[in-house]
Formats: sequence, structure tokens, C-alpha cells
Amino acid sequence: MKKATAAAKSTDTAKPAAAKEAAVKKVAPANRTAVKKVAPAKKAEAAAVTAPKPPKPPRDESRTALVRRARRINRELAEVYPYAHPELDFENPFQLVVATVLSAQTTDLRVNQTTPGLFAKYPTPEDLAAADPEDVEEILRPTGFFRAKTKSVIGLSKALVEQFGGEVPGRLEDLVKLPGVGRKTAFVVLGNAFGRPGITVDTHFQRLVRRWRWTEATEPDKIEAEVGALFPKSEWTMLSHHVIFHGRRICHARKPACGACPIAPLCPAYGEGETDPEKAQKLLKYEKGGFPGQRLNPPQAYLDAGGRPAPPLGAG
Ligand code: SF4
Repeated sequence: MKKATAAAKSTDTAKPAAAKEAAVKKVAPANRTAVKKVAPAKKAEAAAVTAPKPPKPPRDESRTALVRRARRINRELAEVYPYAHPELDFENPFQLVVATVLSAQTTDLRVNQTTPGLFAKYPTPEDLAAADPEDVEEILRPTGFFRAKTKSVIGLSKALVEQFGGEVPGRLEDLVKLPGVGRKTAFVVLGNAFGRPGITVDTHFQRLVRRWRWTEATEPDKIEAEVGALFPKSEWTMLSHHVIFHGRRICHARKPACGACPIAPLCPAYGEGETDPEKAQKLLKYEKGGFPGQRLNPPQAYLDAGGRPAPPLGAG
């Protein structure tokens, strides 16, 4: 994991530089402790660390400083999560677009546990377009909102068959015309099934980029445009994965684990969550106890890093 000290040495995170630097220095020692695994023998020592003061919020941050800080955060996250990936299982664009539609209002894990049964029975858009809705509803029941989702996936399969020859189109303007497919779903598909850069503005992305003051916008389209402007287009897809991984694992909605956060020195929202390193460690949801991921078939890089596949539906 990238040492927080490297980030703390930055002088280009926000202005005024002196104030920011002073704030960063206050954060660095505790954060250095936080990014290490706290061995039992060190627990008392870790607990004795005084909670650092938050960095000065970069209210007056220049555009150049914001771009530098945003890119530095993305670089740090890339080192923390070198195996970041889409957490929906898929083998082709059709499976990904269906899985993404199903992921609304539920976890990727639940979708991954449900789609093997769906795609075993309906492997192509033609099969799903001709399916009996009641049969599909039964399969999709565990994902919640299963009637609406059944309507969407059958509807989009019909549209694929009737308008695109049974193939998922690789253009944004075509994808967003499919039933149940908005810009978020379209970018997931473009970025991960077609290798075309896209920013996925999901709930984690919205929360984190506002905490980092990359944007004040609240509408997904505006967030997408403003955050996209901070990065080269080629980085958009992996940026989305890094941010979403961080939101799921450390920077939680209700109680972010600030005391265990490797980018704390770059974060104006440091202190919104638990700053005590030992307590913060306990809030980590995934990267403890052997990386229980959400995919039944995770990428090799995730397995190589110590990650484990999710159990299939019904495995407990
Ligand atoms: S966990 Fe805390 S310090 Fe880390 S990004 Fe979230 S709000 Fe910032």
C-alpha cells in the first residue's frame, strides 16, 4: 500500500501552500500508523496516537491546484487498489448491460449470485426477448424490484433484437435509447465491455467527489462533466473503479474510516468519519479478513492480490 507519507510530502495539493503543508504535516504521522496493519503488540501504541487535526479545507484552491490534487488522489488510489475492477460478473456486453440494469437498488454481490441462473436459461438477447416474464421474475426475485427489472431486461433484449441485430451497440447515443439504460449504465458498458472511456457516477462516486471538493454539483450529468474535465479521458474508466472501490471499502456513507484512509492528507473532508486509527481499522469492510470480493469470477489480479471470489447464491 502506498505510504501516506509520500502524499504528505506534496506541496501542490491546495493553497495557500504554507497552511496546507502545515495541515498535512499534522495529518501524516497518524495516517502513517493507520495504513499499516495494526499488530496486536502495537495496538496500545496505535491507540495512544492523538487524532490529527483535519487539513485546511481548500476553499480558495486554484484550478491548477485542484487538478493536481485530484490526479494525485487517483494515483494514490491506483496504488491502494491496483486490482480495481467492475464488480459485476460478465462474459460479454449483453451480460454486462443486463447485470448493470439489475444492480439498481441492490448489491453487485446479489446480482452476481443471480445472473448465472438467468444467463444459463437465457444466454442471448433473442432468448430473453422471448422469455415468459413470470419465469424471469422468479429468477430475478432476489435482486428486489424484480417485476420492473424483468420488464427492463426483456424490453432491452427486444430492442437489441429489433434495432441492433441482437448485438449491444458500442455508442452512447444508442445505448441510452435502450429501456432501463441511462448514462450511468451506458458508461459502465462502454468502459468495461468496449474499452471506451466512461465515468460511472454511482452513489459512491457522487459522495466521494463532493467530499474531495472536486465538484459542488449534485446532478450526475454535471458531476460527470466537471470531474471528467479534471482528468485525461483515457483515465476515466479506471478512475471510476478506484473511486467506487474506495467508497465501498473505506470512505463509507455514514462513517468513513478517516483514520485508516491512505489519502487523508489530500482530503478536505478528513474528520467527517472516525479518525482514531484503531477504531477506523474496524470499520474497513473488505480489505480485511481476506478480500471477500463481490464477483464469483474475479479478475486474476484480484486473486493474485489475496482476494477471494464471492460464494454462489444459496451457499450461505
Ligand atoms: S475516509 Fe475520510 S479522509 Fe478518507 S477520503 Fe473519506 S472523508 Fe476523506
